Amino acid sequence: MNNSKYWIVTDLDGTLMDENYDISPAKKTLNTLSEMAIPVIPCTSKTASEVRYFRNEHGLLDPFIVENGAAIYGTDLNKTSEWELVLGKCYKELRFILKNISKEVNYHLIPLNDLSNNQIFKLTGLSEKGINRALDRQWSVPFLNPPDDIFEKAKLICHSYNVHIFKGNRMSHLLSSESHKGQAVNKLKEYFQNQDVKIIALGDSQNDLPLLEYADISIVIPGKNGPNKYLQNGIDKGFFRLANAPHGEGWSNSVEDIINNFKDL
Ligand SMILES: [Mg+2]
Repeated sequence: MNNSKYWIVTDLDGTLMDENYDISPAKKTLNTLSEMAIPVIPCTSKTASEVRYFRNEHGLLDPFIVENGAAIYGTDLNKTSEWELVLGKCYKELRFILKNISKEVNYHLIPLNDLSNNQIFKLTGLSEKGINRALDRQWSVPFLNPPDDIFEKAKLICHSYNVHIFKGNRMSHLLSSESHKGQAVNKLKEYFQNQDVKIIALGDSQNDLPLLEYADISIVIPGKNGPNKYLQNGIDKGFFRLANAPHGEGWSNSVEDIINNFKDL
């Protein structure tokens, strides 16, 4: 991490994973990256509990950014202890703010944690254990996607509470304005004292915008119906590259393209 020239920083849901949480089309590329000692840093709206489980399942060892950039975790070289960097406000405070924003927009913004397990299953398809990991929120409040006009109204109010909201695939997220995915990557660079590292970022949704804007090479992973509308402007202006296929396949093709160029250098 300290000496790497490149870090791959990737969103998980809808980017590396498809809607069934499958990453198999990207497995071969992940192995190549591991052989080349290029770190792969998950940067996701998921909780630390969820990403710890994901890393174990897929043998990833690099640090990870959770809850949309509100906190960063990693393990030391002996993998005996975990370190934590926190950028944002705590869950309890954010819940209170969401309640106030709801009143101001005159629309009940419903936190994910208030739903029954059955409702969460319908929304996410997660198992019971997966749901428990998803509800282990510390630094952000996910809530059901409101209609677009309410979302835009809420966005305008956010700055007076020193928070911001992002729209993900399945839900929206409220977090402190001191934290987003781009700020988290910057914090990680400082932590490893590696200001020269080039960031290759991959994302699919509005919550990835701060990461894609921060990165040196930014790749938008489209869904089955094309790229997210909030990312279209960056693609049109040539700031972001558009992967040639959805999810793990597009992820893999784009990353292979970049690392093949490294090999040619
Ligand atoms: Mg996503």
